[in-house]
Amino acid sequence: MAQVERQQWDVVVVGAGGAGLRAAIEAREQGARTAVICKSLFGKAHTVMAEGGIAASMGNVNAGDNWQVHFRDTMRGGKFLNQWRMAELHAKEAPDRVWELETWGALFDRTKDGRISQRNFGGHEYPRLAHVGDRTGLELIRTLQQKIVSLQQEDFKEHGDYEARIKVFQECTVTRVLKDDEGRVSGVFCYERESGRFFVIEAPSVVLATGGIGKSFKVTSNSWEYTGDGHALALLAGAPLLNMEFVQFHPTGMVWPPSVKGILVTESVRGDGGVLRNSDGKRFMFDYIPDVFKEQYAQTEEEGDRWYEDPDHNRRPPELLPRDEVARAINSEVKAGRGSPHGGVFLDVSTRMPAEVVRRRLPSMYHQFKELADVDITAEPMEVGPTCHYVMGGVAVDSDTAAARGVPGLFAAGEVAGGMHGSNRLGGNSLSDLLVFGRRAGLHAAEYAAGADSSDAGRPVVVDSEVDAAAAEALRPFSAEGPEARTGDDAAAAGLPPENPYTLHQELQQTMNDLVGIIRREGEMEKALEKLGELRVRARRAGVEGHRQFNPGWHLSLDLRNMLLVSECIARAALERTESRGGHTREDHATMDRAWRRVNLICRLSDPTGGLAATDPQRGQIDLSREETEPVRPDLLALFEKEELVKYLAEEELSE
Ligand code: FAD
Repeated sequence: MAQVERQQWDVVVVGAGGAGLRAAIEAREQGARTAVICKSLFGKAHTVMAEGGIAASMGNVNAGDNWQVHFRDTMRGGKFLNQWRMAELHAKEAPDRVWELETWGALFDRTKDGRISQRNFGGHEYPRLAHVGDRTGLELIRTLQQKIVSLQQEDFKEHGDYEARIKVFQECTVTRVLKDDEGRVSGVFCYERESGRFFVIEAPSVVLATGGIGKSFKVTSNSWEYTGDGHALALLAGAPLLNMEFVQFHPTGMVWPPSVKGILVTESVRGDGGVLRNSDGKRFMFDYIPDVFKEQYAQTEEEGDRWYEDPDHNRRPPELLPRDEVARAINSEVKAGRGSPHGGVFLDVSTRMPAEVVRRRLPSMYHQFKELADVDITAEPMEVGPTCHYVMGGVAVDSDTAAARGVPGLFAAGEVAGGMHGSNRLGGNSLSDLLVFGRRAGLHAAEYAAGADSSDAGRPVVVDSEVDAAAAEALRPFSAEGPEARTGDDAAAAGLPPENPYTLHQELQQTMNDLVGIIRREGEMEKALEKLGELRVRARRAGVEGHRQFNPGWHLSLDLRNMLLVSECIARAALERTESRGGHTREDHATMDRAWRRVNLICRLSDPTGGLAATDPQRGQIDLSREETEPVRPDLLALFEKEELVKYLAEEELSE
């Protein structure tokens, strides 16, 4: 049996971004002893990189805003595939979560009359994003961390130990969620990145808050940690993933120089007046307003420009269409030969605002372009193009409790959870999602843990054989050439040399970018699945040299399992959905099909024991099934005009 240190907590939160920290605060406030584990340094998560703001219908800048309008915008943005109950809770609770942040010390930008300022963003009818310049995520994380410190100070007073009831384990990676003999969550298996030491945290509740999957694609705004770990951990624990075909390609990433390709150019640039032009100088977005949005967007440049000054009497410019529409339009312009010198299009604020306003409202963008591309955005346009940014698909959860389906004790919140954003997320709706559902996940995880203690079955117990299997799996890359890799299903690999994890990662990223990227075709996705099968077999021989002390090659070898699982889910679901909707565009099925609105695609691990060895490399590891979506509650449907619903709902839904 592997000698592995064990600790006991009530709730383990995996991830210290906005969702994880908000969940941890709630769980601790409910009285649960709470451990937070994060792969990188505490405070370094995607949330910190969020620029534009938090969407919440506080109505500070336009009193017409309210939760119903926010709900409508979110459903429209997601093309009605959203789990409507999540969209409802999100729209209703987001303002309270922003106020709460302020009471915990967040310093938002203000309106002239001293209220929290709110800015325009794509797909939002009113100015709705509470923000701190273009560094909102930083303030959000700083505030949540400060709240945790204050809770730890309370604990010190009471127990003489800062970490009595909330403790952060930073630079630790979770590789498995553990379960007891009844199939209930019993804890997590992790390794410390610096020392390579293994340890187990025993707990009845585990909250996954691990963020996104972007590192499976070559061009991405995501940083190194986003390898779909939580998605894979859920699958391996037996929970299904929902609608994984929906991946958001943000329209504006940097395209030059190559070393920074994919880094995000915030949507605030367009929200604050930035316009998109092609190489002919044409403001091309007016040619790309789809029928479903025709009534809500300006048809002329003059009307679009007037909207910035008088939004009540003009319609918004099409640069502020939802992200999927803008990304596809840019892609089409570049393909038609009207792109910028480095394969993007031009985004210009320099002709729209005085230099000092650009520097004040978009300080990070100003520095980002000056330092990384030697471009002064107050005087010249930026070059931008689509970049893989966000995954709408994720762990299938209960809308109210954030409980993962089918695995008692497992919860998921934030980007790792599916459903809230349907087929396409509106900008700003992630930060609010993290706060709303992070809180709910923490609350219900704490309740579940308390219930486990008082139940007849008692607290779940970690099974030794699971710990041994997790340790063996984690050590495997050190013996890629050894006998362990040549037994059982790996016998065919005998005699083959180990594979370099970096090469495998590059091939995976290229495959996903080229064959399952922004525009998808049947033949290409079939090729992608074949290639993923080949990579999966080779990844079992991913080998590293050296030891367990800070060994990035080893870490990547372990992350490959997750990226391959998630990529297969994306490719299989994208092949199955024969329509174009939100973040899923098929060249061979170019329109949205109302019949598909009733369909959720569910991915499960084919081998329910969670072992990966037994799976057939040709067949893949994922089973895909269709599931009917739950009908939208009538009072929520009544918030829309009938003429609008006709564009989205299937015939039978309309007649019902
Ligand atoms: P994250 O903040 O991504 O945190 C994930 C955490 O999980 C990290 O702590 C990570 O270390 C940890 N983790 C991952 N795997 C493991 C593992 N195996 N073991 C242990 N820990 C693990 N959204 C908006 O609403 N508004 C914006 O303005 C905005 N701007 C953005 C700008 C950029 C550049 C990017 C990349 C995203 C932006 N988004 C924005 C999206 C938003 O920031 C993310 O969707 C959101 O922050 C995700 O939060 P999260 O809490 O789910 O996860």
